[in-house]
Amino acid sequence: MKRLILFGAPGSGKGTMGDLIQRDFNYAKISTGDILRNAIQQDSTDGRQAKSFMESGGLVPDELVIELVRQRLSRSDLDGGYVLDGYPRTLAQAEALSNIASESEKAIFIEVSESEAVERLLSRLTCSECGAIYNLISKPPKTAGTCDLCRGRVAKRADDNEEAVRQRFRVYGERTMPVIEFYGHKKVLERVNGGGAAALVYEKIKGLIA
Ligand code: AMP
Repeated sequence: MKRLILFGAPGSGKGTMGDLIQRDFNYAKISTGDILRNAIQQDSTDGRQAKSFMESGGLVPDELVIELVRQRLSRSDLDGGYVLDGYPRTLAQAEALSNIASESEKAIFIEVSESEAVERLLSRLTCSECGAIYNLISKPPKTAGTCDLCRGRVAKRADDNEEAVRQRFRVYGERTMPVIEFYGHKKVLERVNGGGAAALVYEKIKGLIA
């Protein structure tokens, strides 16, 4: 299988699972959230366009995200396969994805209760350089404020606050749930219970990839 798509609510563990899959299966991880946050950090035109949508917990317009993904998928490092984290989030993005590249694919829907997801998001810390994910309670960086992997600055994401999180859940239900149903109808969707420790969830996901 060439393409693996991770679906799930904000805080369901897509990023963490994507990192583990990248490490063990030699897949390239493509996170549109990371790409957009990098664009904001570099103060590029794309970043300036995306910033307010992201900070309020809304979706960045389809045209912009689709173009970023098209560019990323044209690079030559994807022969071993790739895992998508946070894309597609709308039906228009799903359609664009099959037009950009039609390949063998599997989608994994990581299901977690909203209360557990919100708790994770509000205690999450993220490296602003490499995107590595930490948690104040369950997985703090070894040195406070510094990434174990790249020594970048570890901090709360601008959209990991109560108001933006509420909006992200609303948008997820309205715009992304239909996309998950679409992959269900395509018969390429697997469901995984994403509650509890990351290592246990990952064991279940591994079984679906291998
Ligand atoms: P994430 O890192 O996946 O939680 O994404 C953080 C934010 O980036 C989202 O709340 C959106 O504002 C934006 N974003 C990421 N991926 C997409 C996408 N596929 N379509 C639209 N907006 C996106």
